[in-house]
Amino acid sequence: ACILGLESSCDDTAAALVTSDRQVLAHAVVSQNDAHRPFGGVVPEIAARAHVQILPGLVRDVLRDAGLGIGDVDAIAATAGPGLIGGVMVALLTGKGLALAADKPLIALNHLEGHALSPRLADPDLGFPYLLLLVSGGHCQLLEVLGVGEYRRLATTIDDAAGEAFDKAAKLLGLHFPGGPAIERLAAQGDPSAVPLPRPLVGSGEPHFSFAGLKSAVQRAAAADRHAPADIAASFQQAVIDCLVDRTRLALDRSDSPALVVAGGVAANASVRSALQRLAADRGRRFSVPPGWLCTDNAAMIAWAGAERFGRGMVDDLAAPARARWPLDPDADKVRGAGV
Ligand code: ATP
Ligand code: FE
Repeated sequence: ACILGLESSCDDTAAALVTSDRQVLAHAVVSQNDAHRPFGGVVPEIAARAHVQILPGLVRDVLRDAGLGIGDVDAIAATAGPGLIGGVMVALLTGKGLALAADKPLIALNHLEGHALSPRLADPDLGFPYLLLLVSGGHCQLLEVLGVGEYRRLATTIDDAAGEAFDKAAKLLGLHFPGGPAIERLAAQGDPSAVPLPRPLVGSGEPHFSFAGLKSAVQRAAAADRHAPADIAASFQQAVIDCLVDRTRLALDRSDSPALVVAGGVAANASVRSALQRLAADRGRRFSVPPGWLCTDNAAMIAWAGAERFGRGMVDDLAAPARARWPLDPDADKVRGAGV
């Protein structure tokens, strides 16, 4: 089957065509970085308006690149949340319009399921279950991925997400938005042990995360004017990695899953990837992480998750709602010792 995927939940507009045998026939992403840069973060109203302008042209482009018409597509998968609601509505309503006009099934996808299943697009041998570290701009969670639509959340952040921490640290260092790639580049020239920074929650009994205290420490280090920005960036990145590895090790030691998988924008970071790869090897687990372009927001992961659902007969009604909040695990609110 061939699935058209549509994504507009944050500041990236994207469309892609992916088959159920893992061929990415075409994909296109337009990032709105330049539009949001003067504000140092994503402005929801600007993002939503830009999606309206950009998305239809991307659908036309990917169909043309693949040499297909909308009639050749088997289903349309659109992100229906979670995210900035004005943006979410653009992909969802575009998907509904196309589904209605071409008489195709609609799959109203959870963006987090797109991240969660993206490793299976790149890695055909990755079966269920796997332990997933989902590290993105809005989320930092450990989940058991038991199957398509079956997620059990083990841990989450009690304050900031990992990507959010990168973005805030970058802002404190005067780097351009988005912060993750900027910190990674600067960190390459710095000493990761130069600046003493805290490792919040490391060693604590539940595998939750916390990054707010780390951000404050970066703020103090930057204000003290004693350290080179590259040393602060490298030390910050190392502190985040130490937290991710420690918390994931705890979850892994409690998990029977044969594989450790990392996904979401922060998984594009080469040092993050290699640290978790070492952890998996150390604990005798298979390791999988998608290529960088599949980690940050894209529509191939949406189309692929759509293919996974379509193949299992999981399609949605044209009345599917747009959702600003949408936890992957229905029991998420009951997770011990942390908010959502
Ligand atoms: P969510 O998926 O939680 O709704 P989002 O879609 O905004 O949030 P993603 O696009 O998955 O998030 O990831 C973006 C985040 O990843 C940003 O916070 C960005 O700084 C971070 N990021 C991207 N590349 C890197 C990198 N190389 N190193 C560290 N962080 C990175
Ligand atoms: Fe995302």
